[in-house]
This record gives sequence, C-alpha cells and structure tokens, in this order.
Amino acid sequence: MAAAANKQKILEHVLTALKKKYEVAEQPSRSVMEHLLYAVVREGTTTELADKAFRGIQDRFVDLNEIRVSTVQELCDAMGPLPDVATRATRLIGILQEWFEMTYSFEMEEIAKKGMKEGAKKISRLNDANDFSVAWVMQHGLNGHAIPLDPPSIRVLRRLGILDGESESLESLRGTIEHFVPKAKGGTLVELLSQHAATLCTEENPKCGKCPLLPDCPAGQELKGTEAKPRKSR
Ligand code: SF4
Repeated sequence: MAAAANKQKILEHVLTALKKKYEVAEQPSRSVMEHLLYAVVREGTTTELADKAFRGIQDRFVDLNEIRVSTVQELCDAMGPLPDVATRATRLIGILQEWFEMTYSFEMEEIAKKGMKEGAKKISRLNDANDFSVAWVMQHGLNGHAIPLDPPSIRVLRRLGILDGESESLESLRGTIEHFVPKAKGGTLVELLSQHAATLCTEENPKCGKCPLLPDCPAGQELKGTEAKPRKSR
C-alpha cells in the first residue's frame, strides 16, 4: 500500500500516462434525469459500450414515459449486449417509476437548484440509485466534486496500491480518491480508469507487460514474468 503522501503523485502519474494512451471524449449535455439513467447503463462498462446502449434506448422509445411503461425485455433488446443488462433495465424502469410516482414528471432540474448535497441526498433515496449513479449525477449533472467508482476502476486502483480496505464502503473509497484528485480532473480519471480496466488491466490475465503504469504498480511487479493470475478481488 502506497503511503498517503505518495498517492497523489501516483494518481498524477496515472493521469499523465493514461492520457497518452487513451482518448477522452467530452460527456454530452444531458438533463439531470438523463445523467442518472446513463449512469445505470455506464457502471461497470466503458463509454463506448454505454453510449451504444443508451443510443439504442433513445432510438427505440419516444420519451421517458414510454421507457417507464416498457417491459424489461424491451429495454434489454434496445440496449443490446451489455453485462447484467436485465438488472440495468429493471433499475431504469424502477427509477422512472419511483420518480414519476413522487413528482408526476421526469424533471430533476429543481433538485439541482437546491445545491449538490441536497440534490444528491434526494437521488440517493431512490431504491434503484446506488453510490456510482449518485456520484455520476453529482459529477455531471450537479457540477460537484464526486468521482464515481465502479468495480473495474476499483480493481485498477487496488492493484496500483492506491486503494486498500476491502471492507470499506464505496463512499469511503470514493472519498479517498476525491481527496487526491481535483474536481477538474475527476471526469478524465473516471474515463481513463474504465478504458484501462477494459483493455489492459483486465480482471483475468492483465497485460502488465504492455502497461505504462507497470513501474508504479505493485501488483504488476508481482505478476511480471509469471504466468500466475491475479486474485480477482485485488
Ligand atoms: S501493471 Fe498490470 S496490474 Fe498494474 S495497472 Fe498495469 S495492467 Fe494493471
């Protein structure tokens, strides 16, 4: 585990090295509700896959109400191949239904006016919201400092020795990263970690020999030159 004083330096190096390797696209302008729905699609995958699935939904359904009254299977078909697609579809419908029952609309812009903390608190009370989706909305929809972390990103950060504490809550892990990464770089870090987790720092057989982070990575050093597979939980 890196000493606290080194974590910021390692994270800065991660940002610099991965920015040379991957392209980071700007997030398009969306309403607060659209950010929340997109977060459900985006968690645990990449922007490329999530964009494709989200476009599939937008092309298939006329509006948010049509999504609300659709079946899980219809949403799965619209999203196409995506891990845990049925769970995502169920959560999308659940969020729209719960918000509609509370407000008779799909507008969330009002909560944005109440400030980030209040807005985040209200969204987090939705049964189908979770830490990632709330943090995503805070970052993209409420202009706050939050860094949504999903399992692939956490895997990379743990292997790099930046995160520890398997029993720590997601909120606490996120707080650690938010402490070291300034708001302006948060979105870029999230994007780079996702791409890295999907291409080189894969769950099984990470390609450490091709990784620009190898000199800073304890897990990579351990794995280098061996055929051993990393433990999944690292
Ligand atoms: S060196 Fe290996 S384990 Fe470390 S970040 Fe790179 S791919 Fe992942």
